[in-house]
Amino acid sequence: MQKLFKKHNLELEDHELKKFEKFLEIFKEKNSQINLSAIREDEAIIEKHFVDSILLNIFLDFEPAYENQKVKVADLGTGWGFPMLPLAIVNPDVEFTGIDSVGKKLKAIEDFAQQLELKNVSTINGRAEELGQKVDHREQYDYIVSRAMAFLPTLLEFCIPFLKVGGIFVAYKLNDKEELKSAKKALSRLGAKILKVKNYTIWDQERTFIIIEKVSSTHKKYPRTTGVPLQKPLV
Ligand code: SAH
Repeated sequence: MQKLFKKHNLELEDHELKKFEKFLEIFKEKNSQINLSAIREDEAIIEKHFVDSILLNIFLDFEPAYENQKVKVADLGTGWGFPMLPLAIVNPDVEFTGIDSVGKKLKAIEDFAQQLELKNVSTINGRAEELGQKVDHREQYDYIVSRAMAFLPTLLEFCIPFLKVGGIFVAYKLNDKEELKSAKKALSRLGAKILKVKNYTIWDQERTFIIIEKVSSTHKKYPRTTGVPLQKPLV
């Protein structure tokens, strides 16, 4: 396993590698019970899920808005826990919250977190459109991450409301310049701007981290009600 991380310039500590080895084992076990993912082969799981999730740390460190404060990161549409769980393994001092509208996926995440002894992971069952309007979640997070969840303009409307002003949103995406261009209006409506775009390759697939900063508070009309951001994206 180590050589697959090394191939992508990721140096892991022994105790982190041990957790990933255990994760692979329990992920496959779960995979045989419920249809977790079509990706079954070990190397594919390691590269497409584990490496892909933590490669972000090459480009970005999770830093607190204020010194000595815990960093709060939410993973929106976390599914079976990607990128959240691998990130939680290598960032033990950061607090992660996985949000998804499908409760049974979150149950699997909780099992994984328990077996991996991850104390920095919690989950919330709900829709982005509803939680993003709640005071407990709105403008409460330092970082939002999200992989394979929605078309960028829709995704921005889901994610930006959760961020504190000055917070960072990272979209894990396939490399698609047109999609990036289509986000212009959503970015300005929601009070955000693109900081940087980092391309990388995993399994011959061109992927991208789109790193976005929230520069001003988001108007309370966003996110719009359930279904609207998807059906009528801000384009
Ligand atoms: N991030 C994971 C899963 C991607 S699938 C990975 O990369 O493997 C997208 C996930 O987003 C699904 O689990 C789905 O239930 C969730 N989802 C889709 N729309 C949502 C919404 N509006 N609010 C909350 N979760 C949503």
